[in-house]
Amino acid sequence: MEASRRNVVIPAHVWTPWFSLFGAFSGFDRVDDCYQDMTGRIFALETGLSSDPPMNWRLSSLDRYTLVSNSDSHSSWPWRIGREANVFKLDEFTYDDVVEAIRSKDAERFLFTIETYPEYGKYHWTGHRSCGVSVPPGEAISLGNVCPVCRRRMTKGVEQRVEELADRPRGFTPVGVPGYRRLLPLSEVIQTILGVNYPGVQKVWAVYNALISRFGNEYSVLLDAPFDEMAEIVDPRIAEAVIRIREERVRLTPGYDGVYGQVRIFEDEEAEGLMEKRGSDRASGEAGRRQRSLTDYI
Ligand SMILES: [Zn+2]
Ligand SMILES: [Zn+2]
Repeated sequence: MEASRRNVVIPAHVWTPWFSLFGAFSGFDRVDDCYQDMTGRIFALETGLSSDPPMNWRLSSLDRYTLVSNSDSHSSWPWRIGREANVFKLDEFTYDDVVEAIRSKDAERFLFTIETYPEYGKYHWTGHRSCGVSVPPGEAISLGNVCPVCRRRMTKGVEQRVEELADRPRGFTPVGVPGYRRLLPLSEVIQTILGVNYPGVQKVWAVYNALISRFGNEYSVLLDAPFDEMAEIVDPRIAEAVIRIREERVRLTPGYDGVYGQVRIFEDEEAEGLMEKRGSDRASGEAGRRQRSLTDYI
């Protein structure tokens, strides 16, 4: 900020237990306690993978901040980019226009954020990894945050931390602010359905590239592509998975204490049913039965 008045600071993944603004272990309860006399310069907060806008809307003290979502792409894998994103509608796409749209919280210019499902994040629930214990906030509180197996202190998850600081009930929705959409990365969706270990393999990218060349880019596939048009060119289970994720019709086992959440798109019989309908030459029914979690390999 001293170097240029145009520089801005947006705190990243503000709820992560370790080293973040509201982190359960090292953080603060209020933005002012963290930034003190510089608080006035903070106008936006980045919600991180384990929290989404509805969780943040439960704190009236955050009303003055714009919520943004970034990928937190710490690795060199290109498919980590764009897991979360901010969608703008601007006449000109310049640095100043983007900053101004964020600062204004104007839903006409800053349309929505793209969020992974917050349960996908690895600190969503409270728990103790080495004992395999994972509990929702209410249960963690009644256990006094002590692991029922080994009696050590559990790692407090983001959902419990939000619960502690929230002054509004679940489901509170402010008016006139940018919205959000829940998605998961396309390469990981394809990887899961094909039952392969890693999104970097040729088999995954063949499907990925077929969809991209038909629909233009990953977000068009995830947000807009119709089932029938996708199913013409790829395994219909992949088309169906994209639709279910878009419509929030997937189940998740929340992440806890450094363990990523588990996403399940199909029950086994459903995946097989889709394969039969299709005539079954491009992928084996076995892959459906062996479907792995999206997050096994992250
Ligand atoms: Zn980070
Ligand atoms: Zn334990």
